[in-house]
Amino acid sequence: MHHFHYSGSALHCESVDLAAVAGLYGSPTYVYSAATMEDNFRRLQRGLTGLDARLCYAMKANSSLAVLRHFSNLGAGFDLVSGGEIRRVLAAGGNVRASVFAGVGKTEAEIELALRNGIFSFHVESEPELARINHVAGKLGVKAPVAIRVNPDVDAHTHAKITTGKSDNKFGIPLRHAAAAYEAAARLPHLEIKGVQMHIGSQLTSVAPFVEAVTKVGPFAAELKTRYGITYFSIGGGMGIIYRDALASGASSWWESQPADQRPLTPESYGAALVPLLQTLGLTILLEHGRFMVGNAGVLLSRVEHLKRGAGKNFLIVDAAMNDLVRPAMYDSFHEIVPIHRDSTRPALVADVVGPVCESGDCFAKDRSMQEVREGELIGFLSAGAYGYTMASRYNTRGMAAEVLVKGSAFELIHARETFEQMIAGEKIPAFLG
Ligand SMILES: *Cc1c(COP(=O)(O)O)cnc(C)c1O
Repeated sequence: MHHFHYSGSALHCESVDLAAVAGLYGSPTYVYSAATMEDNFRRLQRGLTGLDARLCYAMKANSSLAVLRHFSNLGAGFDLVSGGEIRRVLAAGGNVRASVFAGVGKTEAEIELALRNGIFSFHVESEPELARINHVAGKLGVKAPVAIRVNPDVDAHTHAKITTGKSDNKFGIPLRHAAAAYEAAARLPHLEIKGVQMHIGSQLTSVAPFVEAVTKVGPFAAELKTRYGITYFSIGGGMGIIYRDALASGASSWWESQPADQRPLTPESYGAALVPLLQTLGLTILLEHGRFMVGNAGVLLSRVEHLKRGAGKNFLIVDAAMNDLVRPAMYDSFHEIVPIHRDSTRPALVADVVGPVCESGDCFAKDRSMQEVREGELIGFLSAGAYGYTMASRYNTRGMAAEVLVKGSAFELIHARETFEQMIAGEKIPAFLG
């Protein structure tokens, strides 16, 4: 559920008219709902009642400082994947001591930064990485808290680029080799074994792969508790969101209208299936959801440049492009596209919705049916709160979009649109070019 809805003919985020936001800050602009993020957080928390569960929000999904502050205020820690992300948490006033550091290639400098800021734990992906963390901790004269990421070899049934828990991808240590990896960790003097971790993939739409993975790794976690006194089990993130029917899914009536056995994954069904499996372990359970926390809390506002009518094909050319929102080009993903001003008297339109970038891949949707929208009018790409801005680039020398946060009837620019001067600030033409 989310807080994007039409009030009369105008699409609103909470109590804010999105046309007003675009009027003030231009387009393309990402707009986020603070209430939706908070709802997602609280529903997840409630769904896991009975567990000592803690969220380490996977901030690579959306790492704007304001979003981090919001989750930090709610009591979340963070799942970090780089030194830059550690520094973002610090800049947002977040708690590194409640955060975990993941990723397959942490540098010595990043490990040191994490240790100096009291990271809760490192999620380790290989034996060479154990040695490196041990080395840096030894240099600083501290013990580094670690958990090993195990790969349970479970098929998450998601897009190939976002599945991580199969034995043929680069993540984690296969379960059958994990005991040996823990023995290796135990022999290293500057490591403290604190937990075990897994993460099987992203945008999972059924609870079955989570159940399968927890069933596989749970007994191993129990063994590690006996053997090394681990205190936590991180079950990763990956809960999927609604991309099709995104607008309708904001209403509870939509959920109730879905056949009970076909309801998309919810924090309630996730919790109901997993709590009984996890409760008996007596461990703290860490969750690392990213997409679920923010995905349905964001819209990308864009303005129509042209409606180009062709022979048998229409193109709606808009001012957002693949550099702003790369998911359709990169993952073939679907985003619902809606008019910001709804008008039932308008004819229907079937068009490819494309950006101005010089790539055929700069296409948000093919043959999409929608209300006709005209030059200068606004549209919104829904469910754009996760892996939208954070994956954006400056391709075609297009500056980064603006970001706005809404809370109730208040809204504020949280990230100004990037200027040309900012874009070229680090560049230099060498003297030898004359
Ligand atoms: C990306 C990632 C997550 C978050 O995935 P979502 O699908 O956004 O919930 C969690 N844990 C790890 C280790 C990740 O790499």
